[in-house]
Parts: sequence; C-alpha cells; structure tokens
Amino acid sequence: MISIAEAIKSVKNNIKPLLKPTTKKVEKAGGYLLFEAIKSPINMPPFRQSAMDGYAINMHDSLIYNLIGEIKAGDSQQFKLEKGEAVRIFTGAPVPDSANAVVMQEKVITDGNSITLEQDASLELNIRPLGEQVKKGHTALNKGSKLTPAAIGYLISLGITEVSVFKKPNIAIISTGNELVEAGTDLPYGKIFESNSKMLLSALYNLKYYDVTLYKVEDVYSKTINTIRTAISKNDLVLITGGISVGDYDFVEQALTELQVETCFYKVKQKPGKPLFYGKKDNTQIFALPGNPAAALSCFYIYVYIALQGMMNRDILELERTNAKSVSSFNKKGDRPQFLKAIYDNGLVEILEGQNSSMLQTFAHSNALVFAPEAVTTIKANDILEVIILPI
Ligand code: AMP
Ligand code: MG
Repeated sequence: MISIAEAIKSVKNNIKPLLKPTTKKVEKAGGYLLFEAIKSPINMPPFRQSAMDGYAINMHDSLIYNLIGEIKAGDSQQFKLEKGEAVRIFTGAPVPDSANAVVMQEKVITDGNSITLEQDASLELNIRPLGEQVKKGHTALNKGSKLTPAAIGYLISLGITEVSVFKKPNIAIISTGNELVEAGTDLPYGKIFESNSKMLLSALYNLKYYDVTLYKVEDVYSKTINTIRTAISKNDLVLITGGISVGDYDFVEQALTELQVETCFYKVKQKPGKPLFYGKKDNTQIFALPGNPAAALSCFYIYVYIALQGMMNRDILELERTNAKSVSSFNKKGDRPQFLKAIYDNGLVEILEGQNSSMLQTFAHSNALVFAPEAVTTIKANDILEVIILPI
C-alpha cells in the first residue's frame, strides 16, 4: 500500500500526452486545442465594408454631395463615384473602390438628391479595410489555440468547416457487479440501480470528454477478462468500477494480471478508495476504482483527473486546492488520510455528516473535498483546512 503523495506522483510519471491529431467539424470542436496553425483562406473582411448606416462619399472640398444610388448589405453592384458624389450605404455593405469615407447618417442632412455633411470626413472613416482582421494566407489562429465559442465563430467566418485538433482520449467505463440493474427497470430484491457509470460519464462530460463507451459486466471471471481486454484495445483510458477489492467475486485484479497490465500501484493508504488500482498496457491507461460510489468519485477527482490533464498535455495536472476555515467539527477514525465531502463557500468550509464511501447522498450536496492528513485526528471549528474544489 502506497501513500496518496506516491500514488499521485505515479500517475504524473506514467501519463503521456496523447499529442495525436483528429479532424473535427468546427462547430463540434469547442474546448479542443488546435493541432496546427490555421491560415486564413480569405481576407476578413473579404471586401472594404461599411461600418455604419450612412453615406459613402468620394471626398471633395465642399460639404455638399450628390446622391447617385444605394448599396444594401449583400449587394454586389459596383458604383463609380466621381468627386462630390455619394451613395446611401448600410452597415456590412461593400464600399465602392471610388468612395473614400462613410459618414454616419446622424451626421448628415438630406435634401432630395443631395446631402450636406455636418463636418468634413477623414479618409477611410467608418470603412473596415479589406483583410483588417486577417489577410488571406496569414495565420488566423496559432497551434495550441483553444477553440472557444468566439474562436469557432471566427473560423466559420473565414469559411473554415473542419479543423485538426489535439485528440482527446477515448474512454471506457466498465461497471462490474451481479447486483446492478439499470435505472428505469424494475428493482428486484437484492439488486441496486447501477449509478457509477453514469456518474463518471457525467464527471467526464463536465470536463468536456465526450468520447465515452459504457460496458457492464457480471462478476464472472471470463466475462470480466473479455470485457477489459476489449475496452483496452479500443480506448486510451479505461475506468473500471467495482470488483477490485478482496471479495471472492472480485475478479478485476486477477483479470488485469492475466491481461498483463503493468501495475503502477494497487492500494493506496487513503479513505475512501483504499483498493484503487492504476496501471497501463500498451498506450492505454487503466484505473480500477472501488465500487462504492463515493469512493469511485473521490478517486476520479484525485487521480483520474490528473491522467486526463496529462493526456491533454495541460500544465496544471491537479485540481485546485485552497485553504479554508472550518465551520464544523469532525472526528477522524483510523490512521488513513481522508478526503471528506464538504461544502466550500467564500473561504469557509463545512464537513458534511455521512462520510461513508457508499454515500452519494452526502456527495450530492458537496462542492469540495477536505483533505485531512494522516496526523489529524480531530477537526474543530476555525481550524484551517486544505480544500479541493470540485469541477462541477
Ligand atoms: P465492490 O467494489 O464491487 O465490492 O462494490 C462495493 C460496493 O459498491 C457494493 O455495495 C456495490 O454494490 C457497490 N457498487 C459497485 N458497483 C456499483 C455501481 N456501478 N453502481 C452503484 N453501486 C455500485
Ligand atoms: Mg462488486
């Protein structure tokens, strides 16, 4: 059994960035990072564009201009303006090459076919220059740029429909247990609704990992091996829940050994989550999480999170930790360091009742985990505690 610090170090040391490209439709690439720089296929804007509703003019040395036509957004008619001539123009419409300023309509007095400016215009006033945002062939976004909604809008405005981005891991979640039935079906005596897989799926979705396959397997050795083998062959990360403890029907460890998964660690001195397993085979990372739901989720946030960050080559690997003042008291039994379900709010933290590793009820009310180190036995109000803020 290793310490939490050693286990965290082991994940950090064993994880490798995926650094593989994948092609995505731009609108589905939110949150991804660009695998390569993108050059703009067009000038943006693609023509000299009016930034105002008003009048495009070919300047001369009087404030009075002759109106010779109208250009709406989307029009493609070319006007040839002589000096002293103007066209009515609207925001987004193409400004004729022969016009050298757009005067906003609020600053113009109209009189039939002539207009009078309040004051002289300056050259290129209210005209968005061709290629002002980016020129054709120039870099629109650098390698590694994050595809935020604005970045996606920007790329689409350049006519780009597909992008090469850093691949996120394909992830398998395997839930093991004869007692598990799917929510939405009957609940026979002795069975429980399977919750770990959807809980972890939701945690992954929250972190923007969407490529997730769910597997379910009974407590049968051959089925356990086959399911894990398949999941490893198709995924970058495999999360197994249950079956990793010491019961007669816990087959996961034996299956992992038989499949020659290299063990990085098995069993961590912590509560909850003592039976946690972490290993790797070929390029797949494997976590066997405890079946108890609160333990599985704690291990997800403390260890699997690091693996995900590492696979995405991110600089910050662990969840943010902060100090907070306790508003509750807690008696810690045993010598294992503990992750305690808690509510953090503005520098204060409340440790909740019901810390059992089976209790999602408590976790459902939490937004943080308090880390109580080995040496701590009692926590009192006003003690300063280390708090891990959950990405929920
Ligand atoms: P195990 O680690 O398989 O011994 O399971 C420990 C506890 O967690 C048992 O009470 C299981 O019924 C429960 N459990 C295991 N897997 C799940 C699951 N996928 N959803 C909900 N509870 C589970
Ligand atoms: Mg089980």
